[in-house]
Amino acid sequence: MIQLHDITKTFNQLKVFENFNMTIPDKKISCFLGASGCGKSTLLNMIAGIMPYDQGSIDGIEGNQSYIFQDTRLLPWATVEENIRFVLKSLSHINQQEVVDKYLNLVKLTDYRNYYPKELSGGMKQRVTIARAFAYPSNVLLMDEPFKGLNPELKNELMTAFMRLWQRDRRTVLFVTHDVDEALLLADEIYQLKGRPVYIESHVKIDMAKDKRNDHWEALQDYR
Ligand code: ADP
Ligand code: MG
Repeated sequence: MIQLHDITKTFNQLKVFENFNMTIPDKKISCFLGASGCGKSTLLNMIAGIMPYDQGSIDGIEGNQSYIFQDTRLLPWATVEENIRFVLKSLSHINQQEVVDKYLNLVKLTDYRNYYPKELSGGMKQRVTIARAFAYPSNVLLMDEPFKGLNPELKNELMTAFMRLWQRDRRTVLFVTHDVDEALLLADEIYQLKGRPVYIESHVKIDMAKDKRNDHWEALQDYR
């Protein structure tokens, strides 16, 4: 599990976290839900080790990580296929072409493998980042609003694809969103963040099986 002990984080005069503690279980999808600006990306960045904090410690982040950033961060000079290949470069024990093909197919971008990011829509770029993050065999997957700005149909498709993948390899997933529906559908644990400095307003465990939730979700879509 990942443990945060007494984390304090200040931006200039703004104290976003103060003596913040939490424990995140392994092999589950833990969701951080909260309004824009509450500190979700900061929390993820600190856990990922890419943003320093003032005080405290974070334990239990071991092995490889994949990170789906809020702003996609594709390599602009590389094609869709090359963007996925890039993260696989150091992995000699896998059939890279097979992995690339599998994940491109999964996000339905096989026909766009030779396109550059600037030639893709926002949703397509988002799909490349999801394929790239899953193609890399990480222990922990951090995702910051990965389904933001997608049309409902594509979002459903990707969330279903995400769950299929997750059910196969059960990584520890830290999932940031401000969308309650996404949280209820995907997460095992939902932590609602609030306040300045941030505190956990509620922690809900969802026990319903994910495939059941998916049926529920698809039924709900008809009423929207
Ligand atoms: P969220 O991801 O929940 O929308 P963030 O973690 O991005 O929120 O930001 C939390 C707060 O910290 C916000 O008030 C934001 O303005 C501030 N903040 C985040 N990053 C920086 C930074 N690099 N410099 C100054 N303030 C920042
Ligand atoms: Mg954010």
